[in-house]
Amino acid sequence: MIQYTFSYTKPHRHFIDIEMRIFEHSSPELIVQLPAWRPGRYELGNFAKNIQYFKVFDAQGLPLKFHKITKDTWKISTVNCSEIVIQYNYYANELNAGSTYLDEIQLYVNPINCCLYIPDRMDETCIVNLEVPSSYKVACSLVQDNNQLKAKNFDELVESPWIASNSLQHNKYSVKGINFHIWFQGKCKLDWNRILKDFKAFTSHQINDFKAFPVSEYHFINQILPYKAYHGVEHTSSTVISLGPGSDLMSDKLYESLFGSVSHELYHTWNVKQIRPEELMPYDYSKENYSRMGYLYEGVTTYMGDLYLMRSKVFLRKIFIKLKKKIF
Ligand SMILES: [Zn+2]
Repeated sequence: MIQYTFSYTKPHRHFIDIEMRIFEHSSPELIVQLPAWRPGRYELGNFAKNIQYFKVFDAQGLPLKFHKITKDTWKISTVNCSEIVIQYNYYANELNAGSTYLDEIQLYVNPINCCLYIPDRMDETCIVNLEVPSSYKVACSLVQDNNQLKAKNFDELVESPWIASNSLQHNKYSVKGINFHIWFQGKCKLDWNRILKDFKAFTSHQINDFKAFPVSEYHFINQILPYKAYHGVEHTSSTVISLGPGSDLMSDKLYESLFGSVSHELYHTWNVKQIRPEELMPYDYSKENYSRMGYLYEGVTTYMGDLYLMRSKVFLRKIFIKLKKKIF
């Protein structure tokens, strides 16, 4: 089991304190690595640039020697140590659908940005403890027990971003017995009746055609910003959408963008998360992963996501035609 604890003291400074605790270690050296890229963004991320301090201790709190062997890999001397504690911080001041951000309002984490991993222990359970105000709710697809999240392995952990905040707006609907959660973080006035009706409509049409849904529960996590934004990232059981400005969310144009994103990202649950190019299977987090199949997993998803909005009458036919003219 690998345990991570997220805490912070001065959220306005955007630094998250992260502790990684490793148990049952048995060799004189330990290699830990930070992902170099994230699935969904087909380019290098260089997340390690956001780490400002890095310290390692044994179970008694005595410091252990380490040195960096690449831009995002550390080698730690662990003679006679079965338990190792790594403490580091992460500068979280970027707010988009694939980033990590902290302020006085929220702790928003994409674990792929900031969770170290041990290359030969990626199959172990990952536990995440969140030291956040007691009034905070957590929007995340992982199993939750109070402020503790549990992932069955590192892959699931990095597929499961979260927002912890006390200003999350939440609702849910169900299609064929599967619960779909809708979360909004950020200032916006929501017409929940319209939103729920439209979410349910495109979800039902997609599931009807695929005959089944690959996961037991799904979360749409919407990061609503006060300025213009339009970005989405797909995950196995969730998606994060960043969209703005929040004051215009229910306007025709931004509402179209919201549904253009969520229908596209839901379609990705099948096309790229389940039906995935061989070269992305498994994901190699240590370097960028090349594929020539983008036309299939992004092109087809873009076309089909909008087509389902037209079929389910969330988009009028004329909106669909207008969007396709833009692309083709
Ligand atoms: Zn996409």
